[in-house]
Amino acid sequence: MSKRIVITGGGGFLGSHLTARLLGEGNHVICIDNFFTSSEQTVAPFLADPRYELIRHDIVDPIIVEDVDQIYNLACPAAPGHYQFNPVRTVKTSVLGAINMLGMARATGARIMQASTSEVYGDPEISPQVESYRGSVNPIGLRACYDEGKRAAETLFFDYHRQHGIEIRVARIFNTFGPNMHPFDGRVVSNFIRQALAGEDITIFGDGGQTRSFCYVSDLIEGFIRLMNADDFTGPVNLGNPVERTILDLAENVIDLTGAGSQLIRKPLPPDDPVRRCPDISLAKEKLGWEPTVDLRTGLSATIEYFQDLDFAEWPPPTPYWEAPPQA
Ligand code: NAD
Ligand code: UDP
Repeated sequence: MSKRIVITGGGGFLGSHLTARLLGEGNHVICIDNFFTSSEQTVAPFLADPRYELIRHDIVDPIIVEDVDQIYNLACPAAPGHYQFNPVRTVKTSVLGAINMLGMARATGARIMQASTSEVYGDPEISPQVESYRGSVNPIGLRACYDEGKRAAETLFFDYHRQHGIEIRVARIFNTFGPNMHPFDGRVVSNFIRQALAGEDITIFGDGGQTRSFCYVSDLIEGFIRLMNADDFTGPVNLGNPVERTILDLAENVIDLTGAGSQLIRKPLPPDDPVRRCPDISLAKEKLGWEPTVDLRTGLSATIEYFQDLDFAEWPPPTPYWEAPPQA
């Protein structure tokens, strides 16, 4: 049955893919976004659809949309350079934004999913990371505005659930990539592809031996839908690709697939950059029957194709930190 679904951050990378999927399934989508880290070009394909509504709004301020069945709370700067540009605003977006969206869920009876993150594990002492691991976060570091903001949002979700009976879902998302990433978001996949296509040097922060696990966006969106529609399961649940890779390995794959002549150059490792990140997805497999199906090279090829068609001049960087997040 068709539902009325709010997506905060619906103009962003993940939000645009979720919108396409939900509209394609016959739902009505209401996007709430202030376009801080995204471009209206990303939502342009949806505007003609009568089942799509766009509300330009900052979720730090309260808002109630009526007759809502589901809310996906995705609004938050996600790339390190973006969330460190205005850290106080990042905390407000995570914490006040969560309170406002949980308020909407309470007023409407909607089920609400929080886009949490592997960053709640900080620089983890165990690998792979399981949901029961409580994390190792520096509460006063440059990444804390994001990490602690997301941790506080998880707290709010569970307290609203216990105190007010709100139906919640919490997804801990690991690094995800694909078309519709902002070319100047400063994240590693977009940086490497943009640099390779422009024939520029590829910037390796630190020695490149740190790891991440890269999930293709269609796999992640499938996980979102399964989690939101699962019965009697709040999470938190890890959603990510369990294949762990070094950043050097990623760079070599991008160079190989683009045929670029780029050189690798070293830049300082940003403070508190996690050394390892890899999800244990046993819980997602058990509760949602979910696991990724798209391998890294297939996903990278689709993303490279998307970037090849972009005119980078039409995508002004949302913050000055697209080459690297700030140092302490
Ligand atoms: P994105 O930057 O592309 O999208 C975020 C969207 O939220 C943008 O459209 C931005 O304009 C909007 N936004 C930011 N602050 C807002 C505010 N105060 N009010 C209204 N809109 C606001 O990032 P993304 O990769 O699509 O991430 C979406 C969500 O998923 C974020 O909450 C992020 O923390 C989470 N997440 C993403 C990843 C990933 O690898 N992509 C990993 C972990 C968690
Ligand atoms: N990174 C890099 N070069 C870049 C951008 C990022 O080596 O141009 C590294 C970064 O230091 C981190 C990893 O790639 O170790 C992933 O960075 P990203 O900003 O994509 O996300 P994070 O997982 O750190 O939030």
